[in-house]
Amino acid sequence: MEGRKVIGWAARDQSGHLSPYSFTLRETGPEDVVFKVLYCGMDHTDLHQIRNEIHSANYPLVPGHEVVGEVVELGSEVKKFRVGDIVGVGCIVGSCGECFSCKSNIEQYCNNGLLTYNGTYKDGRPTQGGFSSAMVVHQKFVVGIPEKLAPEQAAPLLCAGVTAYSPLRQFNRSDKVVKAGILGLGGVGHLGVLIAKAMDHHVTVISSSDKKRVEALEHLGADAFLVSSNGAEMEQAVNSLDYILDTVLAVHPLQSYLSLLNVDGKLLLVGVSPNPLQFDSVDLILGKKTISGSLIGSIEETQEILQFWAEKGLTSMIEVVKMDYANKAFERMARNDVRYRFVLDVAGSNIES
Ligand code: NAP
Ligand code: ZN
Repeated sequence: MEGRKVIGWAARDQSGHLSPYSFTLRETGPEDVVFKVLYCGMDHTDLHQIRNEIHSANYPLVPGHEVVGEVVELGSEVKKFRVGDIVGVGCIVGSCGECFSCKSNIEQYCNNGLLTYNGTYKDGRPTQGGFSSAMVVHQKFVVGIPEKLAPEQAAPLLCAGVTAYSPLRQFNRSDKVVKAGILGLGGVGHLGVLIAKAMDHHVTVISSSDKKRVEALEHLGADAFLVSSNGAEMEQAVNSLDYILDTVLAVHPLQSYLSLLNVDGKLLLVGVSPNPLQFDSVDLILGKKTISGSLIGSIEETQEILQFWAEKGLTSMIEVVKMDYANKAFERMARNDVRYRFVLDVAGSNIES
């Protein structure tokens, strides 16, 4: 048996151009939550995926993994949600449940994780994302959105927000002032600044140009701003940071950022470079420095960042747009012209009419 008919906006080929696409949700299982999509954030990974830059796109492909919706139907065994609840879904909608990562509640590292879109269910059907009028997701991968949070504000937290929060939470509640660096001020980076400031860190933004200086310092509350191509500014900041959250999505010279770290400093890589990055082992050894990676966050951490955001009363800088602007929004994202996250008003776009 099939589930309900929905309309999504799908890419059909590697041009990445999105257009309306009708498909059927899978049948609602006992542990499933069916929700009408209200808002969906637009992540740079979506752009990589629709253009097949990660070389795994199965078309037609409906992107979107920062999804906020309103529950319209529940499977018979779902107790933690009610019809009408506002809920969220991030990057994964399934995992094996058996492996070390799953048993340790870090299911994002499960080797058999099911991606929210461009994944494949056991029966061979593709998963489709949140650029769609409705979704059906197993309750384990659905989080509750706190009442205090506006749904459009919650959307970017479900991928970009938790991607910044997961590696940064190790520095929360430190008894000294943590010196933070946020490299690349885009969707993930700007949420990183807000999260680090809310953790009382001293935050330096490191950006590829001067264009975002005023916004970083005045709107986002960063304490310092460095332009990575300005040798004198970079020189002054050598050995000054405890960590750098690296969100850059292009090949970039790690040694110049490693030199900004203090002894025992950590370069936390979350930006995905299309080609291998290089570093000199001596740079790490002499300063006991670490380069580490981090993938989104767990379901637990996703619920935690939503709570953290609501408790601290944080507000991200988003541009809410309708679905018929999605292609233009991706074009702007490709030329680094986003302040700082597009959020699609899916319900307000009347895509089913
Ligand atoms: P975004 O909004 O486009 O921001 C990326 C930022 O990187 C830009 O704003 C820009 O900041 C900087 N940048 C872009 N091109 C650059 C270049 N050629 N050289 C140097 N800096 C450059 O993207 P996003 O959505 O934040 O995503 C950032 C990266 O994180 C992507 O690779 C995405 O796939 C990845 N990601 C990873 C995870 C994870 O789980 N690890 C989760 C979400 C996203 P400035 O203007 O300040 O230089
Ligand atoms: Zn697993």
